[in-house]
Amino acid sequence: MPAGDSPNLITALAFPDHVAVSAIADMRLQQRNITLQVLRLDQIDPLLSGNKIFKLVPNLIQARANGLDTVLSFGGAYSNHLHALAEAGYRFGFNTIAVVRGDDGQPDSHTLRFAASRGMRLIRVSRQQYRRRHDADFISELTQTCGDFYLIPEGGANEAGSRGCMSLAEIVVNSLQASAGSGDLPHEILLPCGTGTTMAGLIAGLTQLQASGNCLPRDWHPYVRGIAVLKQGEFLQQDIARTLRVLQGEVATTSRWRVETTFHWGGYARFPPALAAFVQEFEAAQGILLDPVYTAKMLSAVFQRVEDGCYADGTRLLLLHTGGLQGRMKNMN
Ligand SMILES: *Cc1c(COP(=O)(O)O)cnc(C)c1O
Repeated sequence: MPAGDSPNLITALAFPDHVAVSAIADMRLQQRNITLQVLRLDQIDPLLSGNKIFKLVPNLIQARANGLDTVLSFGGAYSNHLHALAEAGYRFGFNTIAVVRGDDGQPDSHTLRFAASRGMRLIRVSRQQYRRRHDADFISELTQTCGDFYLIPEGGANEAGSRGCMSLAEIVVNSLQASAGSGDLPHEILLPCGTGTTMAGLIAGLTQLQASGNCLPRDWHPYVRGIAVLKQGEFLQQDIARTLRVLQGEVATTSRWRVETTFHWGGYARFPPALAAFVQEFEAAQGILLDPVYTAKMLSAVFQRVEDGCYADGTRLLLLHTGGLQGRMKNMN
């Protein structure tokens, strides 16, 4: 039976207060005394991908507060977000509906088969129809077909989603404290960016943590660097700034931050052979799996930046492994 009659229960079941931290050992780093640690959000839960639970949980709580048992969202056939929503809905007792981009007669992806196995209703639409996902007309047509629902935008990219990601700041600090020998807090935190929702939440969370003065060194103001995984990611800088104004009101952010837009390898979900070779080598050396869409590009960007001399000797870097490993499974069921 699905759990989760109360909002508190949803939070307690889904949110850890710390996660594992893995250290990366590599000559290119050691030569320069650069520390690279990975925050293992991918290990929180095999079926609720990394950053997605942080975006989903506050939305589910809001849905329940609005008296809605059905949640509808959007995504492609390999979407980590739809995968996580299907699982979260199953566990916490929501009906889930996905509007899926592309009805081109392809056999179902493992992601969609998993989603269906969790009771998610799949509505396939053409790419053309999918572009209407922000139109009020389209939403009311969906309401006529499906009844009332709570709507979560594609990728969990809304204010509630960003607010959920504010918890990541505390998880960073708690996880480093809990991991023996992790040493000092990082100078810079890196994460991959799709919509920038997670990054905005992290920055706002760090600002809040610093403002609360909770046992932090007062002079800890890590740089937050996002790695855009899609082409023409320049819009992310503005989107994140806008979200920060919503989350923080007039409180100025104390974090310095920036989105890098040159590490997309040709565009969203592009995975050229040179990137595949990097991933293979990294996984063999470190025993940490990467997903091809997000974390692979972040890791290769970091090594590129080290090689380019972007970091001073002695710099401490922390990477958020945001999950997405369901995207590697080809043969479920
Ligand atoms: C969805 C996703 C992201 C992107 O998160 P945003 O909040 O949209 O920037 C990053 N990494 C993984 C593994 C994801 O699934």
